[in-house]
Amino acid sequence: MGYLGRDEDTICACATPPGRGGVSLIRVSGPFSVSIVKKFCGFLPEEPESHRVYYGHFQDISKDQKIDEVLLTYFKKGRSFTGDDTIEISCHGSELIVAEIIAALVQAGCRTAERGEFTYRAFMSGRIDLVQAEGVLSLIESQSKLNKKMALRQLQGGLSEDFQDIEKGLTFILANMEAGIDFSTEDIDPYEPQEMQDRLADCYAKVDVLRDSYQSSHLIQQGLRVVLAGQPNVGKSSLINKILRQEKAIVTEIPGTTRDPVEGQLFLGGITVQFVDTAGLRETDDVVESIGIQKTKEEILNSDVIFYLLEAGQKLTNEILEEFKQLPEDSERILVINKTDLISDEKIQEYKEITSKFFDLNLDLIYAISATQGAGLQSLLQNLEKWIVEKTQGSSSVVLSQRQFEELRRASECIQKTKSLLQENESPEFVAFELQDGLKAIQNILGRDPNDAVMDQVFKEFCIGK
Ligand code: GDP
Repeated sequence: MGYLGRDEDTICACATPPGRGGVSLIRVSGPFSVSIVKKFCGFLPEEPESHRVYYGHFQDISKDQKIDEVLLTYFKKGRSFTGDDTIEISCHGSELIVAEIIAALVQAGCRTAERGEFTYRAFMSGRIDLVQAEGVLSLIESQSKLNKKMALRQLQGGLSEDFQDIEKGLTFILANMEAGIDFSTEDIDPYEPQEMQDRLADCYAKVDVLRDSYQSSHLIQQGLRVVLAGQPNVGKSSLINKILRQEKAIVTEIPGTTRDPVEGQLFLGGITVQFVDTAGLRETDDVVESIGIQKTKEEILNSDVIFYLLEAGQKLTNEILEEFKQLPEDSERILVINKTDLISDEKIQEYKEITSKFFDLNLDLIYAISATQGAGLQSLLQNLEKWIVEKTQGSSSVVLSQRQFEELRRASECIQKTKSLLQENESPEFVAFELQDGLKAIQNILGRDPNDAVMDQVFKEFCIGK
């Protein structure tokens, strides 16, 4: 649908899932709800009372036949979910009855509703914002108790308040900056740069908390993907076998033997962790192997955590450094030094320090193991578990949609940039321009001044009748 129009049609749709059930519910919403329904339900008063239930028969006027015994619940304009006059018709749960009632309503002037159109109207009438609209969707889709709790809070506006709070903070800073631009010729400095920095830091921290919670809600919903990467023969297959305690991947001494990603699951820190072995990223002429490499690239992009394997004592080349640097920064990158059974303890320590410098990586992110002997494996997995628990602990608050997350990421980048521009004493116009972009991202989340593309993205996920 062209989302931004606010038509005056009276719309109807079945709001309960299709099939046989105890009851089905048909929603009618729009300015002519009462007069249209009254054509079939003479028992409904001309001016019904809001939130009252009326009982009677739904009559097919053309055939003078009763279609079903129904209950009508009336919600007056301004007091309904959509904001418009709404009647909910509860009939017996039968697809045939529902079809007959809807056909009758359409003949009398109703239009059948598009996906999510009731929620869309609620949004357009200002009853809910876009974050709450997405909350309706998450609530419908929520599978677990934890998810449901989060979605309900979102629907009730808790999450919207978090975003509004950030919006307020950024608007204040921007207003001050813009005042600064207006008065700049008169040598007036209406804002204190340090105060602006503090306020920006505060907004940044709030954005960050929400961004983090996306990761945790995502982890709870989807589980974690750990991808094993590294040059051929460093021991990726051996490690995955050891982790999964079964012979999943083929271990050979010929480099490049793992062609399809090999997977297996463990349950760690309360969530499922999927381990994926890959073919490595080495350039090759072998067609089969190069398909494997393509898959490896995709796996790496989809990973939450990457174990990048090295062989203890192996020469650290530029090729390896490049390969490591190309791993996506938003995945947690862990360096795993394998085959430590082949060198002495002092040499392992020494090698860890060399790699830490070479990859410019904190020592905490470097592990030494022996995939075949099992040494160091427990510590690696325990730390992964600790990381998962830390990431999922703060998850009591929100489920963010991908859309909200992308906008938050943009807001966070803009705020960060604004902070550095301020520090560098850039011209206020320039700084304000950057911050405006960040503010816009937050406003997009809330659906202020929405465009068709955003509406489409949100409402296409809905089903008809919601
Ligand atoms: P991939 O190509 O990275 O998957 O490497 P593989 O797991 O196939 O291992 C390559 C070779 O290294 C095999 O011969 C393994 O037995 C050997 N290997 C793997 N891990 C270790 C280890 O921890 N210690 C020793 N000594 N050899 C290992």
